[in-house]
Amino acid sequence: MRSASASIHAGLAAVLAGTLLLAIVIAAVWGATFWAFVLAAGGELVVLLWLARTWAAARDRRAVAPGAPLSPRAAPTRRRRLITQLRDVRDAVGALPDAVVLLDHQGHVCWRNAAAIHLLGLQQQPDERPLALRLAGSELGTWLGTDTRQAAADLPAPADPALRLSATMMAFGAHRQLLLARDISPLSRLEQVRRDFIANVSHELRTPLTVIHGYLELLDPADVPELAPVLKEMRMQSQRMRQLVEDLLTLSRLETREALPDEHMVMAPLLVALQHEAQALSQGRHTITVEAGTDADLRGSRRDLHSAFSNLVSNAVRYTPSGGNIVIGWQRTANGDAVFSVRDSGLGIPAEHLGRLTERFYRVSSSRSRESGGTGLGLSIVKHVLNLHQGRLVIASEPGQGSTFSCVLDASRVLPPASDDSTGTGTPAD
Ligand code: ADP
Repeated sequence: MRSASASIHAGLAAVLAGTLLLAIVIAAVWGATFWAFVLAAGGELVVLLWLARTWAAARDRRAVAPGAPLSPRAAPTRRRRLITQLRDVRDAVGALPDAVVLLDHQGHVCWRNAAAIHLLGLQQQPDERPLALRLAGSELGTWLGTDTRQAAADLPAPADPALRLSATMMAFGAHRQLLLARDISPLSRLEQVRRDFIANVSHELRTPLTVIHGYLELLDPADVPELAPVLKEMRMQSQRMRQLVEDLLTLSRLETREALPDEHMVMAPLLVALQHEAQALSQGRHTITVEAGTDADLRGSRRDLHSAFSNLVSNAVRYTPSGGNIVIGWQRTANGDAVFSVRDSGLGIPAEHLGRLTERFYRVSSSRSRESGGTGLGLSIVKHVLNLHQGRLVIASEPGQGSTFSCVLDASRVLPPASDDSTGTGTPAD
């Protein structure tokens, strides 16, 4: 800034000196004092105008410099610039294809973009009600009334149920919130096509496989002793294929469900049934015990919870070498949640695989899974069943030491023990 003003002063001095010198020369040589005066005055006027412009530009630059004190004269320029920037940001957000809604601390709409009108059905005219009330009756409205820290993955758009939305709520400024909703209809359609394809293929395969398996069962290896090993292998593979198709159909069914029946699931007989299943599978190779720290029951789908717990028990038997221990546990935690767990002293799982175990067909060792009759879908089914019960699967494992698979179910799903057997035995409902 100092160098700018120094050059202004030097320029001023040079031009003034130049015009004065020219005026003296004209007056002395031609005696034209009047024209010398006009020339000197004109030159100085030009210099003064140039100086005024330079000074104004320097002042504007100072006014918009970050952290510069705002002088009263600079304020209007800075305000104009900020207003322009604000308008640009608002126009950019307004043009986004995603719905953006700014909410105050009470959930009232302070601002929304154009996409919010056609995706969320927010009308142009002002509405004093909080957004959750304005959207009451829609799934998005219900979600807004719950804990919105968890994003909503796939909901029908309130303005047009044919459109699917994902929604996220973010804290913003002092106690304000920003709702973002994205149209995921194309993705959702693709996902539906994939689901339908798997369900249809599995369904189509089911009948021919049942027929083949039936005929294989009819064949007696004693009639053709030379084909006995082949027959045994064919029966085993056809059984595997049937199990694969059944698991795929189970997954398809779970994926299309938004909720499962809320039944009273009596846990005590279920734990005994699971122990018997494990013993039948183990054929005396393992020590299998039940540790029940509570007599509480559960609220949920008997058939699906039994299938999930069974999967964990069967895995423990299949991945624990002979002589190992398996403990089926049923406990309450300090905060009231219920935990069904299966602990084994088996092979264990290296840490890098833990995060991916519930993916379809993910196996730590494909050969071991196939040898033991696994389809690679068991833990995926467990995860889906738990999700539909608002529960979660926790896996702790140490290679060579064993694994513990725990199904954590919210306290709201825990029921007092049934007084009689009228509520069901805990065995799967058909
Ligand atoms: P699979 O039918 O192959 O057992 P799952 O989905 O049930 O499929 O399990 C996925 C993989 O997780 C298995 O292939 C196996 O590698 C690993 N796994 C599951 N349970 C256990 C366990 N109790 N001990 C060691 N590994 C396990």
